[in-house]
Amino acid sequence: MTKRKMPVRPIPWSDESPNGYLVRMAEGNGYLNTSRLLFALGFGESWQWDRLFEHSRDRYGAVLESCGIDASVAELLCYQRIDLSGGSKYLINDSVLDGDILDSDLGSYCSLCLLEHRYWRKIWRVRTYVACVKHNVLMRKQCFVCQRDLSQNRPELIRCQCGADLTNAPAIRANSSATEWFMSLERQDPKGAREVARCFLALLQMEGGQRDTGVRYEKLRAVQEWYSSRAYSPSPVDSVASHWHPRLELLPVLEDASGQCVTPLSSGLSTINDVILDTLQAAGALGVDSRRIGQIAKTEAARSVGLRLPNGSYSARAINGILWRLTPNSEVHEGWGRKVHTSRLASAVQAVLDGSRISRGFDLLSGIRTLATSVINGD
Ligand SMILES: [Zn+2]
Ligand SMILES: [Zn+2]
Repeated sequence: MTKRKMPVRPIPWSDESPNGYLVRMAEGNGYLNTSRLLFALGFGESWQWDRLFEHSRDRYGAVLESCGIDASVAELLCYQRIDLSGGSKYLINDSVLDGDILDSDLGSYCSLCLLEHRYWRKIWRVRTYVACVKHNVLMRKQCFVCQRDLSQNRPELIRCQCGADLTNAPAIRANSSATEWFMSLERQDPKGAREVARCFLALLQMEGGQRDTGVRYEKLRAVQEWYSSRAYSPSPVDSVASHWHPRLELLPVLEDASGQCVTPLSSGLSTINDVILDTLQAAGALGVDSRRIGQIAKTEAARSVGLRLPNGSYSARAINGILWRLTPNSEVHEGWGRKVHTSRLASAVQAVLDGSRISRGFDLLSGIRTLATSVINGD
């Protein structure tokens, strides 16, 4: 590497993205883009932008040092990786976040923030950061003129490579309460935040709207609602056949209760045809372990809805019906009743399906192993 103290050395902001800072460095010193800057510093081709680069204090620090900036600044700017047993996490501002909640590119931007202070915020890479908490506007991912993703090698921080000034992007009003809620959940209940993040990412994957901040906004609000009420309700019971319960939609990312990963569906859920599930898939959709679903399948109520198919596999349509019928409607939603002991789950399901008990709901993310019921006209 070459030491080439840059004549212009911007002062980094404490919440600035490592990428954005180097764009400012290149721009301020007359380099066409960051690749040219890195090349001039002798970092060559292998130092192209990638996640490793932004996540490595050593590599990023070496670049800073060769620009004439103290390498310790890398500590401040980098996405610091923390290796924990549950996978890699990143420290962003004060939050510890899962790697998969980060965008692999620049993330999104708020034109009003850019107008106020011309730097790229680190938190903008977080996918749940769907609305700016300062301005209550929808974050944007693409250029508002050419609709393309912004290049990491654009010549100016606030301009798209097409020349459009990002600070001119029209602001779309959006309530930032879900974004703030997720950020505080992250601090207060990290386990809950991981569940929420997993559910949020799964919903995005299902809908194919991963890069659309409007879709992200809707999904985060939906997940917040599920998480807050700890049950997906109210929903009319007779609409059973017409739409799939979220646990079935989320099936490709669920595990069964013993922690075994569910194999992805061989064909997608269709509104017309039933879908055949194997034991693990069926157990995952209900949120029980493989042994428990065998017990549930033997109950009279489960037999009458055709849960188990003659060849030993399971009917997604029957599971859908059971999930909806175990979801409380609005009239019985007050109060929680008593949580069912796992060993009595099969008989509790039978009792709700035949109408002798009322379901008080279950945790959407954990499934019916968290089912609570109460007797009719009692608690
Ligand atoms: Zn803003
Ligand atoms: Zn553009």
